[in-house]
Amino acid sequence: MTGKVYLVGGGPGDPELLTMKAHRVLTQADVVLYDRLVGDQIIALIPQAAEALYVGKAKSKHSLPQEDINKLLCEKANEGKNVVRLKGGDPFIFGRGGEEIEELVDAGVAFEVIPGVTAAAGCAAYAGIPLTHRDYAQSVRFVTGHLKDGSTDLPWNELVYPAQTLVIYMGLTGLAETAEKLVQHGMKESMPVAVVEKGTTDAQRVFTSTIADITQLVIDNDVKSPSLLIIGDVVKLQQRLSWFNTDAK
Ligand code: SAH
Repeated sequence: MTGKVYLVGGGPGDPELLTMKAHRVLTQADVVLYDRLVGDQIIALIPQAAEALYVGKAKSKHSLPQEDINKLLCEKANEGKNVVRLKGGDPFIFGRGGEEIEELVDAGVAFEVIPGVTAAAGCAAYAGIPLTHRDYAQSVRFVTGHLKDGSTDLPWNELVYPAQTLVIYMGLTGLAETAEKLVQHGMKESMPVAVVEKGTTDAQRVFTSTIADITQLVIDNDVKSPSLLIIGDVVKLQQRLSWFNTDAK
């Protein structure tokens, strides 16, 4: 009998943000392939008897190229195993989930996709920043600050748009360039920006500033990955609406 691959979104960090479905398939897994962004408390839920394979991309640890991950998923499923491919956040939001299941489709391997709380939703909630708000933002846009070839070429004109919240994933490395480009394309220098580091975890830190000053603030506070940028007038609400870990700040 052939097995099945579950492409599972593990959420942004807080293990209680796993869906019940994600929790169930994880605790019934024979094999789990997990990424760098999956936190220790979630890894701890993997059954003792299951084979747990780290396939992430941290420089210090062993990691697998994408093609090998895709192959491994097929192999393990063809051995009749219940395979969980566990990813941070949601598998279909900057998570390469599409690439992985394309390979499964080609190989005729059965699969399911289990959505997760994406970093934007998790970080915004735990930082106290509503991504939309009738007074400040009627739309929200998720972009990645990091393209496949390493550049940061974004559609700047579309990003500087009234009443729109911008959420930038993987935006820390290119932050200086992003901030500069946004201002060049007409964003007011006083535009509020938040950086959420390790959102939803006990180590969460939230910094707020303006598009003109955020880069320096990030440097001064040695902000590390994973961090999410939220740009827009909704960030003005952060101080009033923040509730999580407020003592720790
Ligand atoms: N599939 C994931 C995103 C993967 S891209 C999701 O849906 O959330 C990785 C980027 O996500 C990081 O560089 C960072 O910008 C963001 N990210 C993921 N988890 C985060 C967290 N706990 N806190 C802040 N940013 C996070």
